[in-house]
Amino acid sequence: MPDVSLEAARRRTFAIISHPDAGKTTLTEKLLLFGGAIQLAGSVKSRKTTRSATSDWMALEKERGISVTSSVMQFPYAGRIVNLLDTPGHADFGEDTYRVLTAVDSALMVIDVAKGVEERTIKLMEVCRLRDTPIMTFINKLDREGRSPIDLLDEVESVLGIRCAPVTWPIGMGQRLKGVVHLLSGEVHLYEPGRNFTRQDSTIFASIDDPQLEARIGAAMLAELREELELVQGASHPFDQAAYLAGRQTPVFFGSAVNNFGVQLLLDFFVEHAPAPRPRATTTREVQPAEDKLTGFVFKIQANMDPQHRDRVAFMRICSGEFRAGMKAFHVRSGKEVKLANALTFLASDREIVETAYPGDVIGIHNHGTISIGDSFSEGEPLQFTGIPNFAPELFRRARLRDPLKLKQLHKGLAQLSEEGATQFFRPLMSNDLILGAVGTLQFDVVAYRLKDEYGVDASFEPVQVATARWIRCDDARTLEEFRDKHALHLGIDAAGELVYLAPSRVNLQLAQERAPGVTFLATREHA
Ligand code: GDP
Repeated sequence: MPDVSLEAARRRTFAIISHPDAGKTTLTEKLLLFGGAIQLAGSVKSRKTTRSATSDWMALEKERGISVTSSVMQFPYAGRIVNLLDTPGHADFGEDTYRVLTAVDSALMVIDVAKGVEERTIKLMEVCRLRDTPIMTFINKLDREGRSPIDLLDEVESVLGIRCAPVTWPIGMGQRLKGVVHLLSGEVHLYEPGRNFTRQDSTIFASIDDPQLEARIGAAMLAELREELELVQGASHPFDQAAYLAGRQTPVFFGSAVNNFGVQLLLDFFVEHAPAPRPRATTTREVQPAEDKLTGFVFKIQANMDPQHRDRVAFMRICSGEFRAGMKAFHVRSGKEVKLANALTFLASDREIVETAYPGDVIGIHNHGTISIGDSFSEGEPLQFTGIPNFAPELFRRARLRDPLKLKQLHKGLAQLSEEGATQFFRPLMSNDLILGAVGTLQFDVVAYRLKDEYGVDASFEPVQVATARWIRCDDARTLEEFRDKHALHLGIDAAGELVYLAPSRVNLQLAQERAPGVTFLATREHA
């Protein structure tokens, strides 16, 4: 039997964070190529438009060219098992992205050399900072003219507040791009357009002192490079593993994803230095990856991945122990044993039935709505992993049904889709309204589309007088009852049966809070 601690130690579970268009998809495809997961460069992209794939299976997604759902890709590389968790690209899906980031051990930040640090990168970085997630940086599109590398590092340091340790350094850029120097090994990797599409590609010199290098790039450029390197080595921070693991320093790489240049240097460094699964907090204790009993938590639900089967898949990140196909696990919230029969892995993004899985891996568990985001699994211990929040939505709409006879279906559809976590579903105590909350307007379109496509319900969403929502907590039964009576008009129940205050305005919320000092109003609800 494989040793759990050895298996855990060779896992690298990460996500790519970037602003749209920086090159996340392209880089993902190249990484998969190195992992042998796909044969041909271009296949990740082409799937977007041709056949449907796990990562973007929805017609709407294809129409709009966005990735609504995230997926998991696993590939072996250099004796390690790499799990890449895709994050949804569109700005409206921040909450989903947030939860994916709770399931990774590190992140890779992709920055466009011409655009530098962009707005969405800043937001994602804030999320990573909450957990001190270690981050590596890839500065992409070096084959195009961009900003000076030193400027870019300055910007990362000042805007994102993280120190930079360049590991590779570009020789030229755009038309003048000649290659990169590896600052730790001293090796020079030449950029030879058209030759970089296969795995082992560029010409490599052992150091910048190799006489052939001058012949290839010219004396003037070499002199310039020497000067620049001196400057960089004087001004930047040397790579420091501890500072990287603590999220205080980011190793930086330069390259061009579309030309598959500089990517292998990044991947080699990544599998060597990125963290293996780390201990995880629960409400009762810290769980170590090497423990022999299986534990994990659900960070994502996807309904109807396969329209033929109407299945729902809960994505569970394994935190400790070994998963074996067919084993029983303890579903902590319901207190029930669940047989994990047909769990899925995501090798090469094709769904496959998994036999075993280890800490850092993600498995997909089929279920019929019994599993929710944030649920924990164990082999009997009633532990609950922490840190997977539900945010208060910022936009609210009332569902309007075209065919009143479909009310039951509508109800079911809204409840099931909100379990995926992108939207939240509320039922006011005093009316028959079905209210949907979201963090972006696009989500209402997505839900309307899916209600029709998957549940056969024609519904639209109209404005409703709700400005914000707060989860209500109160330990004193009498105070709570009084509060309920007084504010029944503004109270509702969420999909999990929790009491929520649906405030018609910010002012109203403030007044209600001031008048009920014994009641706590929460803007996030930890899944429990
Ligand atoms: P995403 O939105 O972050 O997933 O970005 P994509 O991977 O879809 O890339 C956005 C665009 O940038 C596409 O047209 C890519 O072909 C292009 N692109 C990606 N990497 C490079 C690169 O290294 N150089 C150049 N010139 N274009 C690139």
